[in-house]
This record gives sequence, structure tokens and C-alpha cells, in this order.
Amino acid sequence: DQMREAQRALEAPLFSGLPGDIEVSFEFFPPKSDKMGETLWQSVETLAPLGPRFASVTYGAGGSTRERTHQQVVRIQNEAGIPAAAHLTCVEATREQVDDVARHYWEEGIRHIVALRGDPPDGQSRYSAHPGGYANAAELIAGLKKVADFEISVAAYPEVHPDSSDRKADLDNLKAKFDAGATRAITQFFFEPECFFDFRDQAATAGIKGEIVPGIMPVMSFAAVQRMSGLCGTAIPHWMEGLFEGLDERPEARQLVSATIAAEMCRRLYAGGVRQFHFYTLNRAELSYAICHMLGLRPKA
Ligand code: FAD
Repeated sequence: DQMREAQRALEAPLFSGLPGDIEVSFEFFPPKSDKMGETLWQSVETLAPLGPRFASVTYGAGGSTRERTHQQVVRIQNEAGIPAAAHLTCVEATREQVDDVARHYWEEGIRHIVALRGDPPDGQSRYSAHPGGYANAAELIAGLKKVADFEISVAAYPEVHPDSSDRKADLDNLKAKFDAGATRAITQFFFEPECFFDFRDQAATAGIKGEIVPGIMPVMSFAAVQRMSGLCGTAIPHWMEGLFEGLDERPEARQLVSATIAAEMCRRLYAGGVRQFHFYTLNRAELSYAICHMLGLRPKA
């Protein structure tokens, strides 16, 4: 029945009458300048009326944005009224230092951490844990749960993390993160809905019962997406290259194409039963807003 339902949704006219029964979250990064700070804040204010479950702020490589992340997380929660989540990594820090950062968040009323291992610092190709630090995300989660009863989200990789020996090891690692206390996994971005559906099936087969939320990356700059995809192992489909061809100097047309591609992918995810979406906003609201709108979401009164 579910299959038939999904098929019907695929055949249905585009976006007509989606009831908006979805939950969304938005990811931001800490701004590097006052001007970028303004852009971020405009985006937060544009997206807030959509009533996101949470908004998260990333943590720069090696904890380089610790203060700026903290500032934005607290501001988003206190001034925009969105439950905020702080990304936190294990890189270049002892357990005590990481625990301290978390304790500070708890004291300020932040209850949600996106717990990550992090990437190796610049110049190092392989990850090696700090001598007194947490070795990976699963260890970090166990440590955080000792600090306080945080809600914890983690990262998941539909196309397998580049450090992982194979799919099974990657899923075992994801299961270990749920077992350590995570409540949800947010996926690395991907561009084919089947990629997410296969991953969801494989996770279920591996005994993972927690929520897995697709991470949606609306393409702002195709060159930047190509670069990021290379680093994180996301495949860029050929059709996508074709769709962005010749649009480098046409930002407005490019944005329309981006919105269409991402909205269509989300529509197909929706047809496959997905009701939760996490948007990598890159601190710009319009694409994410438009996609949410097409999925039926409207500002809350
Ligand atoms: P882990 O889950 O700990 O594992 C990473 C890999 O190592 C897996 O393949 C796993 O199988 C393997 N592994 C783990 N433990 C072991 C072990 N004991 N033995 C053998 N293999 C092991 N990075 C940032 O720096 N800041 C951010 O704010 C940030 N936000 C992110 C948000 C999302 C939603 C996503 C998907 C990624 C984010 N990242 C961020 C990137 C992330 O830090 C990198 O992908 C990093 O390389 C892995 O982090 P992880 O938490 O997934 O690691």
C-alpha cells in the first residue's frame, strides 16, 4: 500500500495540495564579519515564522569558532525564539575542554547538541584523536550525556563516510551513536532521493530505529558544491552538471534552477514517507524558504 501511495504521489501534479505536514530545521554557520552577521540574522528572521523544530550552528574546524558559535546559538534561541542546537566536535580539545563548552551551553538554556567527531585539522590527512580527547562522536555523546541530559543529533552518511572501510562499518558506527544516546541522525547532503531511501532501508536492517533526517543542500554555487562533494564523497549526478551548465554568470536563473531541483527532490522524499527535512541554508534564507513553501509549509500565526 505504501508503495502504491508513493507511486501515486510521484504521478500527482507537482506540489498541488501538499498539506504542509512536515517538520523542518535549519543549519547556519557562524559569520566571519559584521556584514555576514547581518545576512545571517536576516535569514534567521525570515525562516523563524516557519516554526522550525530547531536551528543549528556549525562549529569551525578545530573549535576555531567556539565563541562565535556560542554567540549565535544563544541569540537564535533567545531573540528569534527558535530552539537552538550547537554543533560541537572532538578536534584539538581535551575531554574536559569539550565538557566545559557543553556545560556552558546547558547553563545558558541550550538543550540540544549536534555531536560530531570533526575533520582533521588543515594539513593533516588522517584523523587522529587528541591525546586527552574524545576519539569519535560516539565517545563524545557518552561524555555529553554525563554532563547533562542533552538532546543529541549526529551525522550520517548515505554515501558512506570517506574514513569508513565499508557500508557495514559505517552503519555499525551510526548504531553506536544511537546506542550512546543520540535521538536523531542528520544526513550528509545527497542529490538522488534513492540514495536516501536505500540508506534508510539499510539502517533499518542494521537495527537502527532512531530518526534519520535528510540533509538538504540547495545549490548556491555549483562550483562550491562540486568542491564540497569531492571532500565528503557525495556523488554529483550527470544530469545536475547539465542543468547548471552555462549559469555561472546568471545568478537569478541559477537560483530558480536550484530551487526547482531541491524542491523536486524533497517532493520525492515526501512521496516516500519523509516528513522531516534539515536544510543546509549557508546562511541564506530564500532557497530554503521557497522549498519549504512548495512542500506546503506556511508561516505560523
Ligand atoms: P564519527 O561518527 O565519529 O565517525 C567518522 C568515521 O570514522 C566513520 O566512518 C566511522 O565509521 C569511523 N569511526 C569512528 N569511530 C571509529 C573507531 N573506533 N574505529 C574505526 N572507525 C571509526 N564538521 C565540523 O567540523 N563542524 C560541524 O559543525 C559539522 N557539522 C556537521 C553536520 C552534519 C549534519 C554532518 C553530516 C557533518 C558535519 N560535520 C561537521 C562534518 C563531520 O565532522 C565530518 O564528517 C567528520 O569527518 C566525521 O564526523 P562524525 O561525527 O560523523 O564522526
